[in-house]
Order: sequence, then structure tokens, then C-alpha cells
Amino acid sequence: MIPPGETIGILGGGQLGRMLAMAAARLGYRCHVYAPEAEAIAAEVCAQFTQAAWDDAEAMAAFAADCAVVTYEFENVPVAPLKALGQVPLLPSAHALEVAQDRLSEKRFVADLGGVTAPFHVVDTADDLAEALVSVGSPGILKTRREGYDGKGQWRIMADHDADGIALSGEPLLFEGFIHFTSEFSVILCRGQDGRIVFWDSAENTHEGGILARSVVPAGEQVLAQVPAARELAARVADALGYVGVLTLEFFATAAGPVFNEMAPRVHNSGHWTIEGALTSQFENHIRAICGLPLGATDLAAPHVEMRNVIGDAAEDWDTILADPANHLHLYGKAAARPGRKMGHVTRLGW
Ligand code: AMP
Repeated sequence: MIPPGETIGILGGGQLGRMLAMAAARLGYRCHVYAPEAEAIAAEVCAQFTQAAWDDAEAMAAFAADCAVVTYEFENVPVAPLKALGQVPLLPSAHALEVAQDRLSEKRFVADLGGVTAPFHVVDTADDLAEALVSVGSPGILKTRREGYDGKGQWRIMADHDADGIALSGEPLLFEGFIHFTSEFSVILCRGQDGRIVFWDSAENTHEGGILARSVVPAGEQVLAQVPAARELAARVADALGYVGVLTLEFFATAAGPVFNEMAPRVHNSGHWTIEGALTSQFENHIRAICGLPLGATDLAAPHVEMRNVIGDAAEDWDTILADPANHLHLYGKAAARPGRKMGHVTRLGW
């Protein structure tokens, strides 16, 4: 057990790190953020900030020397430089990061454990794309295997001729068959160091332009019917990885059952509602897990919870939002609003 008062290292400087650090502070821990960017909004609420490149081994080793445990809030942290952490435990593991960083490896990993994925074909060349259009068929989505998020690095191919204009850059891609889903949902779990797993209620998620717009709990009947099978799969994934911390799997609910889309080895936007909407949030349980503390109850704190993201530069009236006492406003302190950028979220509890 890592006693309160010790320092937790967080790789990545975004809003997830900020909310992890706030949960850690409540339990008496100090946090130290490591991130390459100067505007690290997580660092604003932390005791220490190392601004350095991921491959700066000296900075990484000095950071590790200050930490009792290290975690990550960003799944595109390159794995090789993490050797510089030495003996300081990294939780979840570098292996979990490696599997989840690549759409191909995560799909294979989950399929090997019995999960159903969209049909897919690896695309490195124009010939591969032509083959994919035959084996998988259109409509489908061409996605970068690595570093895609919030719908970035994706091209929708509704008919074969849509592929004509796509200039392949040489980076590894995956062509996925289009899934006709009725709804989307996520399974968020936390696995402790003793292997015990807790789940939060699954939110029904709505995406706009590939970006999460809204998460609602409880999900509709159709999703609820598919949650047990999805949870079973998610637990198998967590066990197979010897996972410690919060793990998220995203699913499409279809007439044939849950289809796995992707996983995130971290706290997730579709779990932000747990800050006010659950007895223990995803952020607090992640901190408890990596520090070896018992996990908190994940029951709902209200019968209906809805989280919506504040995205881009749309004018929002904070006064009006806060005038409704059911609303909880979270702003991440990002300086510049850009289209598609997540600036904050609003959680609404309903009775
Ligand atoms: P992703 O980055 O893979 O999470 O994709 C972002 C969003 O695009 C998903 O949440 C879906 O709304 C949509 N999407 C991604 N892949 C597929 C697919 N194979 N079939 C249908 N919709 C998809």
C-alpha cells in the first residue's frame, strides 16, 4: 500500500490527469505530472510538473525518483522510454498500454478472449485497401491504427469509389466494416491489486462527428440487455492483462449482441458522470487501485445521470447552467477553444 502523503506520477497533462490529481488530493496524495506540452492543465492542480519530451530519459528518471507509483492518463505515451522509470511501479502496466495503443492489437487481443469485433482488414498499401473493399466490403471506415482519437484519423467509405481519392500516407491503417448499431455504450471497470473488479453502470453514449457528446445513465433497455455479456468480456480482458486501475471498453449494441469497438487503458470521458453520479468516481477508484487501497462502492448516487461535453467555442452561459441546482459544471481551464476541443462537461443529476 502506498500511504497518503506519497507522490503519484501522472504521464500526460490533460483533463483526465487533472481530475485524477483532484481525486488523489482528496485522499492526501501529492501528484507530479510529466508532459511534453507547456499548457498542461493537469499540472495546474499538482505539486510538481516536469515539462519534457517523452524520450528524455534523464527527465523521466528524475521524475520517477520523486514518485511512489506512476500512472498514465493518455494512451499514446510511447512505451520504450518508460524503461527510464526503473523500479518505480507503472500501473496499469506498459503491456496494457501497448495492447491498447494499436487498433489491430486491441482487436486481436479482445477477439482471442471471445469478443466480437467489426470485420477488419489491415491496410498498408493501396492494394491492401482494394483487397479490404472486397473482403470486408463497403460501407466501412478506414482508421489509423495508432494515435487516432475523437474521430481523428478516420475516413468513411460509404461506397467503393469513395476510396479513390484517399492518398495513403504510409502509416499503418485498418479498414473496418460499418456496424449498424442501435446504440453505443461503454463498460468501465476498476480492478484492484487483489484482482477484485468493480463496474460502474454502463452509460449509453452519443457521439457527434466522432466525438462523445453525451453519456446517459441508466442506458436504454437494449443496452441493458447487452451489459452482462460486455462486462464478462471486459473482466476477461482485465484479468488477462493483470490489470490494475480503471479500464474502459466501448461497444456497439447490435441486434446480434455487443460488438467491441475499442478500449482505453485509463479513465474515460464516458465515466465523467461518476464524479457526482456514483458513490465513488472512476478517478478516485483508479487512485485507490494503483495505491493498493480498497475500492469504493460504485452504486448510483441518483436514479438518472446525464453528462454532456462542452466542446469547441460554442457560446455557453455558465450562469444559466449553474442557476439549475441539478447541474454540476466542470471546466478544464484550457486557454484556447478550438473546434472539437473538449473544454469541460456538465453533469446533471435527476430524481
Ligand atoms: P472510434 O474512434 O473508433 O471510437 O470511433 C468514433 C465513433 O465513430 C464511434 O463511437 C462510432 O460512433 C463511429 N464508428 C467507429 N467505428 C465504427 C464502425 N465500424 N461502424 C459504425 N460506426 C463506427
